[in-house]
Amino acid sequence: MEKSDLILDYKSHLFDLIKTNNKCEIKELINAIAELFDVKCAIYYAKDIENSEFYRIDYMYNPYYFNINETVSSYTINQLFKKDDYIHQPPTGKQFLSFFNFAFFISEYEMEDGCLFLSIPHHKFKEFSTTDFQHLVIESRNYIYLKKEFKLINQDRKKYIELYQVTDKFHSSMNTDNILFEVIHTLQRVFPEFEYTLMLSTDYSYNPKLPIQSFEYDSIDELAMEAYVSGSIQIATTIKNTRTLLYAPLRGRQGVYGVLQVAALAKHMFEKSDVEFIHLLATTAGNALENAKLYQKSMSSIEDLRLINTISQQLNSRTNLKETIQFLFSQIADAFNVSEIGFVLAQDNQYEILPGSSSIFEENEGRACIDRIYQQFLKKHEPLFISDLHKRYPQYRFRFASIMAIPMVQENSLEGFCVALHEDAYHFTFEMFKLFQSIIHHSTMALVNAMLREKLEKMVITDHLTQLFSKNYLNSRIEQSMKTDRQGTFILLDIDDFKKVNDTYGHQVGDEVLIQVAKLIRKNIRSTDVGARWGGEEMAIYLPEVSLKIGEKIAKRILKAVENHTKPPITISCGISYWSNVSEKVEKLFNRADAGLYHAKHLGKNRIVINH
Ligand code: GH3
Ligand code: MG
Ligand code: MG
Repeated sequence: MEKSDLILDYKSHLFDLIKTNNKCEIKELINAIAELFDVKCAIYYAKDIENSEFYRIDYMYNPYYFNINETVSSYTINQLFKKDDYIHQPPTGKQFLSFFNFAFFISEYEMEDGCLFLSIPHHKFKEFSTTDFQHLVIESRNYIYLKKEFKLINQDRKKYIELYQVTDKFHSSMNTDNILFEVIHTLQRVFPEFEYTLMLSTDYSYNPKLPIQSFEYDSIDELAMEAYVSGSIQIATTIKNTRTLLYAPLRGRQGVYGVLQVAALAKHMFEKSDVEFIHLLATTAGNALENAKLYQKSMSSIEDLRLINTISQQLNSRTNLKETIQFLFSQIADAFNVSEIGFVLAQDNQYEILPGSSSIFEENEGRACIDRIYQQFLKKHEPLFISDLHKRYPQYRFRFASIMAIPMVQENSLEGFCVALHEDAYHFTFEMFKLFQSIIHHSTMALVNAMLREKLEKMVITDHLTQLFSKNYLNSRIEQSMKTDRQGTFILLDIDDFKKVNDTYGHQVGDEVLIQVAKLIRKNIRSTDVGARWGGEEMAIYLPEVSLKIGEKIAKRILKAVENHTKPPITISCGISYWSNVSEKVEKLFNRADAGLYHAKHLGKNRIVINH
């Protein structure tokens, strides 16, 4: 039979409602019916869980029009709908129900069928044919059904849009934190009712705002472990039904990087499509984590290689131990964010903490630490890496918790070692330790050479480069002279702006200039005088039994000779001291000359200052 205009109107009205995003479709339906059919009152009764009665819920239209019961027993409802699942006669008998003239069963989204009671005014009621009533019921049910489907599709669509957006972001981001934030936020947007925890297996220093737990193998939930090992989703409800947990592995192409825990706060059946969604998101996250990790790894390897390369290059151009240590110190301090670094020279079953190490190693606790490490390295040449000293050796009262120490070994013999300390536990990562090891390995040769050179210089009488006497030899000659002679003059001489010579012409030329100056010194003194290399670009002359006046003359001669006969031309500054007192100390003679030299530099260089 043809549908009446009344029903066609109703149908088109419902059609418009399909697209709206109203949460409660029953309420929407009731409002539509009420409006179109001038309904005086509409009440929806939902079935309770035990199925014993129906209770009134708030989807009502004009509820105060009549005093309407809160509940109706299931028996009463069943009696009413004995024959059909809708009625369009004013029911008689029960007082409250007699008020309504139309009622039908309808199912709410994800709920049991409920019953809608309508009170349609008499003038409208007359316009309805029996088929109209049938169609009213059919269209209403149809509407609810479609709305449900529409909602489901829409939810899926939304989820996939989210997923699409997230994936897009992942591919444009190499920052692990950003990716993890995105995963969590997306999940929270799509399923705000669940709680999320990321259990990550890699040692990853994460943003504290992220819900991350480290994946500790021994204390982890069995199911999480299962998800991690099998790489598949695991779901279980806890005893007493307080929580339902879903574990999704964060899987990349090369491995599993952790597990995403999704917790529902009661017994919960995860929809198949929801599980799929979480799975997809977790896998996307796993892949992105893997990419970011590989990227970070390659970036840091490149950084490390660059650092090692720079260090090696720089070290090879330095021969002086002090400079070498200063340079290494600054590189290590920068790379590992530490300030406590110690360099130790080991020789002949003894060790020496080298100058340039942090001052902590001059203190007792620093020395004790070095001593322990030395004893250990004597036994085994294995690098030492301690993340938390206090946890590992509770008996040690040392204020540094993080320790790295790398032995310097050449041809199987311990030449020395380098130690880095930090007060915080876990300050050094394993990657840092490996880099430290590399740096020391690459520096061992340069360091050991510089150390040996220093040692040799002490033993040797002549300086290799300049063929002048060594400082040690000079020292002993002055001491000797002070015992036997009546007087002596000491000249300390330093090349002016020698750094510039090196920087402009290179070390080779710098060395040649040193040789030229040395030659000029030797040319201007007698064989009984001592011309010595004091260190670096500083030289010294000791003139036994020479008065200050003569000494000054000699110094002036050398000053002129250097100014006129060096190539590239350079100048020198001199400090002169003199002794005639038997009880004089060598140290004092040196200090006075040094102060004189300092003064000469201040006065503008290329000059002599006497400080007798
Ligand atoms: P000033 O006039 O104040 O003395 O300036 P300077 O540049 O001479 O002094 P500074 O102490 O700043 O620099 C000394 C330089 O001498 C730095 C160091 O690399 C260089 N040097 C030290 N020993 C040697 C060496 O044996 N050979 C070469 N080529 N250079 C050396
Ligand atoms: Mg100097
Ligand atoms: Mg100089």
